[in-house]
Amino acid sequence: MSERIPVAVIGSSGRMGSAAVQAIDDATDLDLVGRFGHGDPLGDLGGASVAVELTTPDASPDNVAHCVAAGVHCVVGTTGWSPQRLQALEAQLVDHPRVGVLIAPNFAIGALLMMAFAQRAARFYESVEIIETHHPDKVDAPSGTAARTASLVAAARASAGLVDVPDATRTDPHGARGARIDGIPVHALRMRGRVAHQEVAFGAAGEALTIRHDSFDRVSFMPGVLAAVRAVGDRPGLTVGLEHLLDL
Ligand code: NAP
Repeated sequence: MSERIPVAVIGSSGRMGSAAVQAIDDATDLDLVGRFGHGDPLGDLGGASVAVELTTPDASPDNVAHCVAAGVHCVVGTTGWSPQRLQALEAQLVDHPRVGVLIAPNFAIGALLMMAFAQRAARFYESVEIIETHHPDKVDAPSGTAARTASLVAAARASAGLVDVPDATRTDPHGARGARIDGIPVHALRMRGRVAHQEVAFGAAGEALTIRHDSFDRVSFMPGVLAAVRAVGDRPGLTVGLEHLLDL
């Protein structure tokens, strides 16, 4: 029988953190050895070999840096990891070559499929826009999933030789056309009653294709969290995206 993995959760009182605590508690091959909230000293992470980090974009880099320095593998669901932050983390990991950090902008398997399908469809459509919807307590916009989808779609368009999405808008003083990420329009809705939803809308002459994913409950993220916890120790260095663990 393989050894049980001791796991800590940082941000354990939050919406995602408490769902992760429950999922780890329920898993027969994992031991929950530490729960950490805002202001709790992380120390040796309660003896964990893997920490699950689910806090805020402001807090996450310091928490992850602490885990890496302590030699603890880290599964990160917190969004807001800019290229600069990723670079700093990679530089730190050079000095800790045995430590693995897996940053997953989205743990839901369906969301990963949505991104993969959108990437495949991108070269066939002149128009594409992304509409993400989340609960109104989310502090950052757009979602990490929307930003990553936009980057993947933009890269697929570029390698197919597609230029800018067609758009004759000349005046938009209120930003009604949304944000642009790598040239792809992204719209963020914040609505009470929703959890995490995304639509990738494609258009070509005379037709439309919409790829949509809905997370109705945070339990949808937990199989991905647990798969990452089990795998991260065997993946030294930085991995961005849970899709690297799955054969999509
Ligand atoms: P949340 O309910 O606001 O929970 C965040 C928790 O982190 C709170 O309990 C907060 O405590 C705690 N916290 C803040 N700073 C901390 C620190 N320095 N050390 C330890 N704990 C700290 O947010 P959530 O909905 O759970 O989301 C958490 C993160 O996961 C967000 O970035 C969200 O976008 C992301 N997310 C990712 C996925 C995915 O699939 N990757 C899915 C959903 C959400 P206080 O309230 O006391 O400050």
